[in-house]
Amino acid sequence: PFGDTDIKSVQRLPTAFDVYAIRQDFPILQEFVNGKNLVWLDNAATTQKPQVVIDRISQFYKKENSNIHRAAHELAARATDAYEEARNIIKRFLNATSANEIVFTRGTTEAINLIANSWGDQHLSSDDEIIISHLEHHANIVPWQQLSKKKGFRIRVIPVDDEGNLLIEEYAKLLSPKTKLVSFTHVSNALGTITPVRKIIDLAHNAGAKVLLDGAQSVSHISVDLQELDPDFFVFSGHKIFGPTGIGVLYGKEDLLNSTQPYQSGGNMIRDVTLERTEFHNAPNRFEAGTGNIADAVGLGAAIQYVQRIGLDHIYRYEHELLDYATTQLKQIAGVKLIGTAKEKTSVLSFTLAGYSNDEVGQALNEVGIAVRTGHHCAQPILRRLGYESSVRPSLAFYNTYQEIDLLARTVDRLAWKAA
Ligand code: PLP
Repeated sequence: PFGDTDIKSVQRLPTAFDVYAIRQDFPILQEFVNGKNLVWLDNAATTQKPQVVIDRISQFYKKENSNIHRAAHELAARATDAYEEARNIIKRFLNATSANEIVFTRGTTEAINLIANSWGDQHLSSDDEIIISHLEHHANIVPWQQLSKKKGFRIRVIPVDDEGNLLIEEYAKLLSPKTKLVSFTHVSNALGTITPVRKIIDLAHNAGAKVLLDGAQSVSHISVDLQELDPDFFVFSGHKIFGPTGIGVLYGKEDLLNSTQPYQSGGNMIRDVTLERTEFHNAPNRFEAGTGNIADAVGLGAAIQYVQRIGLDHIYRYEHELLDYATTQLKQIAGVKLIGTAKEKTSVLSFTLAGYSNDEVGQALNEVGIAVRTGHHCAQPILRRLGYESSVRPSLAFYNTYQEIDLLARTVDRLAWKAA
C-alpha cells in the first residue's frame, strides 16, 4: 500500500509487537485521503479510536442510557454501574489510592482550570509564587496568568537548554518557602521532551509546595504510577489515549480534594440544600456538578482497558524504536532542522524544512495521505525560546509503522530535493 516498500524497514519490525494486527482494531486507519492510505501522524493532537471504544459507546446508548445516581430504576442502575466502573478502571490504571480521587472533567484544559479556580483561588495570594516550566502547553500557562491577575501571585518559569531539556539546577534555585505550587508537563507536546518527574516532584515537596502534573501527552505512551510519582494532582484528556473527546480526568489526593472548595456548583455535587445554605459532597461528586459526559466516560474506560491489554511497556518500547528510526531518517535530509533533541523523548518530532513554509510541508504531506500538525501547537513560549514561531509536527502512536515513517521521510526528501 505504500509503494516501493523499504526492505530495511521491514526487517526492523519488532516480532513481539504485531502492529498490523493492532491496526485492524482501528477502522479509520483503513480510510483513504486524496486516494492514498491515511497515515495518521497527528497523535499528539488527538488519537484514533479502536472499534471496542466505538462499540462500547454505542452499547451504552442502546442498552444502558440513563442519568446516573438520581433515579431508582433499572437503567439508572446500569448507567451508574458503567460510569463508576470506568472510574475504577482509571483508578487501577493510574494506581490511585481510591476511586474517589478520580474526577471526570471535559479534558486536561478543564481539569487545570478546575484546580486553578478552586484550589488556586482558595490557597494562592499576593505573597505567593507558583512555578511552571518553559515547555508548557497554553492550557498550563493561561489559567495561571488569569488567576494571577486576580490574586497577585508570581509565576516563575523553569528554563530549558537549547535541546529542550529542563534545567533542574535552575529549578532548584526557584523553589522557596513562597512556592505554593509546581505545575508542569510530563511530556512536552511541541518537542516530546520527557521531564524528570520524580526529581521535580521531590524537590517541590521538600519545599512544601503542591504539584500538578499534566499527563496529557504522557498517559498514552508511558506507564504512570501515581504512588511512585506522587503528584498531588494529575490531569489528562481521554481523546489523547484512544478514548472519546469531551471527557478527561482530574486525579487529586483524596484529603486534598475534600478540603478544596468546589469549582462549579449545582446538582449532583451537594449533600444537602436549603434555601439558605448548602452542604457539599466529598470528591468525586464535589467536582462533578450537573449531568456529566456519562457515555464518553464509559468509552474512556474501554479505551484504557484496550491500552492495558496491549501493555504500556510494549507500547513504550515500540514507539521509542519508531521515534529513533524517524529521527535518523529525517536527520539525513538536507534542509531539515529538528527542533527539540532532548535525550529523554517520546513520540513527537518537530521540524522545519529550508525553502518551505511549515504549512507548505503539511499540505505536501496531506497530498500523499499523511496527517501532521503544523503551527505553534498551543506552545508558543517553547517554540519562541528555540527561535521558531511554528513547526511541522509528526507525532506517533503504537499503530504507526516503519513504512509510514519511510513515506514521511521520502516525501520530505522529495521536497528538499526540489528546493535544492
Ligand atoms: N497539556 C498538554 C501537554 C497538551 O498536549 C494538551 C493538548 O494538546 C493539553 C494540555 C490540552 O488538552 P485538551 O485540549 O484535551 O484539554
